[in-house]
Amino acid sequence: MAQGLNPPVIQSPMSSLLADIALPLPLDREFTYLVPPELEPYAAVGSHAVVPFGTKTLTGVIVRRPTSTTVRSLKPVRDILDATPAYADELLRLTHWMAEYYFAPWGEVLKAAAPHGLLQDSKRIVRLVAPDVDNVLASLKSSARSQKAVLQALARRPEFSIARLQKTTRVRSIHAVVHELAKRGWVEIMERFARPALKPKFEKVVLLADSSPDAASLTPKQQKLITTLRALHDDGVSAERILKEAGVSLSILNALSRKGFVRIERREVIRAPVSEFEEPLPPITLNAHQANALASIEHALRAGRYKTFLLHGVTGSGKTQVYIEAIKKTLDAGKRAVVLVPEISLTPQTVRRFKTHFGEQIAVMHSRLSAGERYDTWRLAHEGRVGIVIGPRSAILAPLRNIGLIVVDEEHESSYKQFDATPRYHARDVAIVRAMHNHAAVILGSATPSVESYYNALVGKYELLELPERVDNARMPRTEIINMADERRRVFEELKKASREGMKPFPKRIPLSTISEPLRREIAKRIAKNEGTILLLNRRGFSHVMECLDCGRVEKCDNCEVTLTLHTTKRHLRCHYCGFVKAPPTACPSCGGIDVRLHAFGTQQVEEELKTLLPNATVLRMDLDTTGRKGAHDRMLQQFGRGEVDILLGTQMVAKGLDFPHVTLVGVISADTQMLLPDFRASERTFQLLTQVAGRAGRAKLTGEVVIQTHQPQHYSLKHVVSHDFPGFYREELEYRKELDYPPFSRIVLVEFRGERENEVQHHIKKFSEYLVQLHAEKHSLLLGPADAAIPKIRNRYRKHLILKNLKSYDPAGQRLRSTLLDAQKLYAASPLARNKRVQMIIDVDPVGMM
Ligand code: ADP
Ligand code: ZN
Repeated sequence: MAQGLNPPVIQSPMSSLLADIALPLPLDREFTYLVPPELEPYAAVGSHAVVPFGTKTLTGVIVRRPTSTTVRSLKPVRDILDATPAYADELLRLTHWMAEYYFAPWGEVLKAAAPHGLLQDSKRIVRLVAPDVDNVLASLKSSARSQKAVLQALARRPEFSIARLQKTTRVRSIHAVVHELAKRGWVEIMERFARPALKPKFEKVVLLADSSPDAASLTPKQQKLITTLRALHDDGVSAERILKEAGVSLSILNALSRKGFVRIERREVIRAPVSEFEEPLPPITLNAHQANALASIEHALRAGRYKTFLLHGVTGSGKTQVYIEAIKKTLDAGKRAVVLVPEISLTPQTVRRFKTHFGEQIAVMHSRLSAGERYDTWRLAHEGRVGIVIGPRSAILAPLRNIGLIVVDEEHESSYKQFDATPRYHARDVAIVRAMHNHAAVILGSATPSVESYYNALVGKYELLELPERVDNARMPRTEIINMADERRRVFEELKKASREGMKPFPKRIPLSTISEPLRREIAKRIAKNEGTILLLNRRGFSHVMECLDCGRVEKCDNCEVTLTLHTTKRHLRCHYCGFVKAPPTACPSCGGIDVRLHAFGTQQVEEELKTLLPNATVLRMDLDTTGRKGAHDRMLQQFGRGEVDILLGTQMVAKGLDFPHVTLVGVISADTQMLLPDFRASERTFQLLTQVAGRAGRAKLTGEVVIQTHQPQHYSLKHVVSHDFPGFYREELEYRKELDYPPFSRIVLVEFRGERENEVQHHIKKFSEYLVQLHAEKHSLLLGPADAAIPKIRNRYRKHLILKNLKSYDPAGQRLRSTLLDAQKLYAASPLARNKRVQMIIDVDPVGMM
């Protein structure tokens, strides 16, 4: 053993018996453990390991097998959970990059990629399947004491949870022992989350045997079964089905099987979440723009080199078709593909289309999957049984090997960023890194690319592919801006005139309409012509606010400092964050004014007003309240798609992924709610949302129209929406970003401190900002704050922000920033402050929301 070195390097007794393990702890390091010889066959890099940590037992991932260590007293690994490694080297490398870039512990990133999120929460069940335990026990060597103990326990009771089995047998490395027994076919392992038990699902399949039966030797019923089987399929028919179709009983089947005329096999059934298959689509010949785009992508695929394409094309220009063709090429080349979509439940049509094209070759990952479905989907990818995985952001961590292509549909969508949990990663950016590691191609597709991606295309980091026309040659819709202040004046004048002429008394308040007269007229025209209308309102509740028209007072939550939302059904004001509830005031508590009313509107209010203005119209309201149940969203869209209702009224969800040829009018109730949010991306978001939603108007042969209501008719994001001037908007937006050092000219890191005591939060964030100054962070970054967050309190916890704008001109790869932040983190961790667990620190790199 090496002596006199500092620190002493300890060689492990056998060079293979050490393991570095990433644990799901908020610590920026891995831990070294000893691997006991009996676990050695399983302790492969990428496997889950159970280890003691302090007084706790944790599950981590083996990320390295070092041959020496400087740690003196090593503890042994207790157990290995996987029979084969859960993570390939490529995923380890990717998650490691994520851990560094997003300041997240590697163990926590790995946990996000784990088969079922939280392995610790699942319960493994062991079941005896060996028919004759006594025989098996007799065949085992006397040294296989652990195996014997387990089998003996199972002989007494055929099913045990692993934990229970361990208690009973006192075998330490119970998982490894059980894996060994499973490998020999004596026991079966399944996972149980809640109920029912989770295991691969099997069915009995009947196949014709090779030996052809002599018809004379069969009874009529047996003959019936054989002929039915022949007629159906040569690749096996489920026992249940054949019995039903042939109209015979199980004993007939068993008799045939005994005679050797049919074989009965167990075959795995995959629980597929999307079951509706449509008729195969007619073959599509790509148009010239699509063909050009595909040719460029194919070139990159063939070269086997990393490359990112930005596929920019209006809705209906055929982007999805290009993805599909590019995936076909990828599969033909023996490689696999990942497709990211913003949210499965919001893009049912897209997912269905992929399913129709690729059938069994595609696995859908999905946040609403049952535990069983998720387990199956993960295994399909892990075992290489599918060529494509489609899913929301977490699908970028799918255990697919040999990736040749990654598609990010609607790449500008903010839902690609995980903002509320570690790791706070952006799936689009992770996709690009994963593609680099795999020498793969990336297609970022959008009708309204993010400013960042468009800029990357302009400077040549990405290749820009344009699909400038709609496939159906539909023209872009005509867009009209309605100034709601004018509308209010018009109503005022009308009322004045009516009262002057003695027709009606002047009302106490001017009715604030959600639907302007021009918009009402357009809707009425559509109803007369039997065409569809989509009305867009921003996110539920956000503009559903009580405001005093005399003094401007707004009702806020006592706990959260956010404006309260009026719920008309329950007649109360509610806090969107903490659920605080109170009665709406009848007069303003500040000035006593009585004109306290909604400043803006929720979907319910618009729905009610539509009923008054257009009594004959049928309206379908779609928001979080009405689409809570599984599949409700999809059902509503289909109902609207069939033309059964005149108006689809909804939040952002109506803007996405829909394709309704009969819609010729899109109305935006208020563009302002989005535009006036305190966020530097507010204009970009407004432009994107309005462009997307405008794309819903006028497909096929009918020309569309868009009506946007606003109090800000001069705003530049509206101007460019009207003229469909995409580059024009980006030019103006990039100027503003550059002037103020916003992304893409800088990299933003948001440091948040939160806690229940405001003075403590203040003290911590101030200290942290002092560390940054001490470390000269100002050399590469602009430091903003500390300041209260735009929403300064959520669920009774104060939130304060520090913003670092890291100048790319000075620190292109962000390395200086990273090392400064790590150093500041270390100073903070070493200070007495870190012992105060009531204050939490969160680092968000490239945040998408800054409120
Ligand atoms: P995007 O993804 O840009 O919205 P899609 O790929 O969904 O566009 O295409 C819009 C519609 O046009 C779809 O119904 C699609 O099947 C059809 N389509 C796409 N490409 C072609 C083509 N080359 N010829 C005919 N129809 C096409
Ligand atoms: Zn609250």
